[in-house]
Amino acid sequence: MKTGAQFQKDMSESRKEVYWMGQKLEQPTQNPILAPSFRTLALTYDLRFDPQAEGVAVRPSAAGPINAFCSIHFGLEDLVSKVRLLRLLGQKTGTCFQRCVGWDALNALYSVTYDIDAQAGSDYHQRFRRFLAHVQKDDLVCTGAMTDVKGDRRLRPGEQADPDMYLHVVKRSPEGVVVRGAKAHQTGSIFAHEVIVMPTRSMRDSERDYAISFAVPSDTPGLVYIVGRQVDDTRRVEGSEGLGNDRYGGHESLIVFDDVFVPRDRIFLDGESSFTASLVDRFSAYHRQSYGGCKVGVADVLIGAAALAAEYNGTDQAQPIQHKLAEMVYLNETLFSCGLACSTAGAQTASGNFLVDPLLANVCKLNVTCFPYEIARLAVDIAGGLIATLPSPEDLHNPRTGPLVEKYLRGVAEYPTADRMKVLRLIESMTMGNSAVHYLTESLHGAGSPEAQTMVIARSADLERKKNLARDLARISPET
Ligand code: SF4
Ligand code: FE
Repeated sequence: MKTGAQFQKDMSESRKEVYWMGQKLEQPTQNPILAPSFRTLALTYDLRFDPQAEGVAVRPSAAGPINAFCSIHFGLEDLVSKVRLLRLLGQKTGTCFQRCVGWDALNALYSVTYDIDAQAGSDYHQRFRRFLAHVQKDDLVCTGAMTDVKGDRRLRPGEQADPDMYLHVVKRSPEGVVVRGAKAHQTGSIFAHEVIVMPTRSMRDSERDYAISFAVPSDTPGLVYIVGRQVDDTRRVEGSEGLGNDRYGGHESLIVFDDVFVPRDRIFLDGESSFTASLVDRFSAYHRQSYGGCKVGVADVLIGAAALAAEYNGTDQAQPIQHKLAEMVYLNETLFSCGLACSTAGAQTASGNFLVDPLLANVCKLNVTCFPYEIARLAVDIAGGLIATLPSPEDLHNPRTGPLVEKYLRGVAEYPTADRMKVLRLIESMTMGNSAVHYLTESLHGAGSPEAQTMVIARSADLERKKNLARDLARISPET
């Protein structure tokens, strides 16, 4: 298993083609705007040295202990342990730690490649296991690339004016394939070792060139990374005090596949369109489970910040504030319950690994699209309007304004004004600033937007059975 320092070495040697604000970045780990994202990912390596992570950060494997983020779930307890690990990392970083997408892709491909081989007599599962062994042995960060840019939403992949709106095969040879397209919103991708590509939706037989899944090293020629902007990102170059959370953060990029060659041995699905639905569904189920861990941990930080702000304001003993804090805890623990429930209700797949309960995982994520917004609203309510009008830390250091800010922005006398300002900055960041990118927008759209979860829930609802239950109790004949 690697350490964060070894991970740093890997990334400084990586030759990815990365663009940020119109500039080509030679050393993204040194870029002040991307450095917090790098530090967050590095913690997924160093967490195992933290006694709090005992039993969740490391898993056994046939080849010895491995980083949990590279593991396959071989029991319900592994699924539960995953949710606990993600909550812990959310608590420690207050942001997205960017390593779960690849983990979820590994587990989805493990079972789907097995299923394809069982029907088609192919050798995808063995190929995938060779790739998995490489990931586990070298303790690699994988980014899971699913979301295509999609172009005109009214048209299917093959009907687009530009055929590259969905990633597809443009050339074939006995050695492999060449692919073209782009994947959007790629969490953590600048600091990944490997890119695992999956189709974004179920494909039809006529769309076989779009039914492709594979992995390539992240610095493969032809891969171009264009980093997305985030609210308040340039505060990171102003200095640390105005950030709220100056240590940790996340990033996303648009990854363009500009005619990228994929060797045959790294292709895990190619043209088997009838299996694309189960790959999308299984990956989504795992990733929707993930949110019942990571976002819960992040909210633990926000609830703590709101409680601190109340203490500094002198409102912590007021009953309405205690009520609001309890409401935040109830909402957050409901999400955790959903994360645990879909894990304990999981089941074994034909391949031997375990999959979460898809219906409950989708219920989990649909709740995550709502509850963090209410938790954030309550945090802003408790903090007060000062989070939107607070002067800068520089004003606290200016000889003329410093004593004035110190005097007039003090709450309860025994707490320093600077601490009150720091906690308000943290709440600002998590509810409307840089950290809100990952606490709020990602809760809404990450792992699929709310409608995607509603569709799965509607599909899994089994209303006929429920109607029969009602008929039975109401003494209505089954025929009517
Ligand atoms: Fe992991 Fe959560 Fe970030 Fe997804 S949103 S990569 S589950 S921390
Ligand atoms: Fe995500």
